[in-house]
Amino acid sequence: MTPATGKISLVGLGPGSLADLTGRARAAIAEADTVIGYVTYIRLIKDLLDGKEVIKKAMTEELDRAIEAYERARAGRKVAIISSGDAGVYGMAGPTFEVLFQAGWTPGSGVEVNIVPGASAINSCASLVGAPLTHDFCAISLSDLLTPWPTIARRLDAAACADFVVALYNPKSGRRTRQIEEAQRIFLRHRAADTPVAVVKAAFRPKQDIQFTTLAKMREAEISMMTTVLIGNSNTYVRDGLMITPRGYANKYEAESGFAAARDGEKAGVSLSTGLTGWLAALHAAHAGGRTPAELARTYRLPEDYVAAVLSEPWAAEADAAADDAE
Ligand code: SAH
Repeated sequence: MTPATGKISLVGLGPGSLADLTGRARAAIAEADTVIGYVTYIRLIKDLLDGKEVIKKAMTEELDRAIEAYERARAGRKVAIISSGDAGVYGMAGPTFEVLFQAGWTPGSGVEVNIVPGASAINSCASLVGAPLTHDFCAISLSDLLTPWPTIARRLDAAACADFVVALYNPKSGRRTRQIEEAQRIFLRHRAADTPVAVVKAAFRPKQDIQFTTLAKMREAEISMMTTVLIGNSNTYVRDGLMITPRGYANKYEAESGFAAARDGEKAGVSLSTGLTGWLAALHAAHAGGRTPAELARTYRLPEDYVAAVLSEPWAAEADAAADDAE
């Protein structure tokens, strides 16, 4: 292997102020002799840039940023490419690797690439409104600059249907105003009108602003490219100005408990009686009692071929229960 001659660090700055920089991010910037980034982010860390070459780029010049970084790293320099939040979340990490691979770079070829994680907007915005992400969540960008709308709409629909808490990145710009309205329309097909929504603008920056609203009213909120929109799941609630998603689902959905569940039968540290093992037992029992895979699929809102595939496998209730106890 050729010894490394230069280095590219992809540095996530976190949401905004210097206080949000991790020690690792600070070290990567200190070590760099060239820092490349979008003007706003360069401004955020200007106090750390003394004596360094600084290359400011506009939003649309992402590939140029990566190319310049590679040219300098090949000449032996240490380059930090800075992103807000996390560099891998809708950030520079992907485009940089694409440019590097196109230019013939491989991990052993003399330019080291180092990715420094940062708190993404989903984390910082969540921290400002309470605990909205305590159950399964996902991020969806509403930007259709590089993604076809049907792809975005399908993901919105799937996430809404599967009851994820969702963070919408890039929700609205001067020119892209209708995407957020379509997102609302898709969500309202699956979720209650009073589902809590938090609109967080410029988290941890001087213009920070937090609005609580609901799915039905979210259009009335002020939404821009500086905001992340957090949509709760069917269990999320707002209390005393805090948006909370409970960790458990067991109490909410009677349907999920099927035929066997008894809440007072739950044991700490063991899967719910509606967890996989308990569910398999209930499913097989119901099937043995004459329920068809199609009926069971409807009961549990699962694909029929999945339910049929599970039922087609041999079922040894006792072996499973023993394995569970041994965990
Ligand atoms: N790499 C960034 C995301 C870049 S995409 C990250 O990990 O956070 C840009 C989008 O991120 C914005 O449109 C907005 O939706 C969100 N965002 C970034 N910083 C934010 C902040 N401080 N407050 C609220 N939203 C933010």
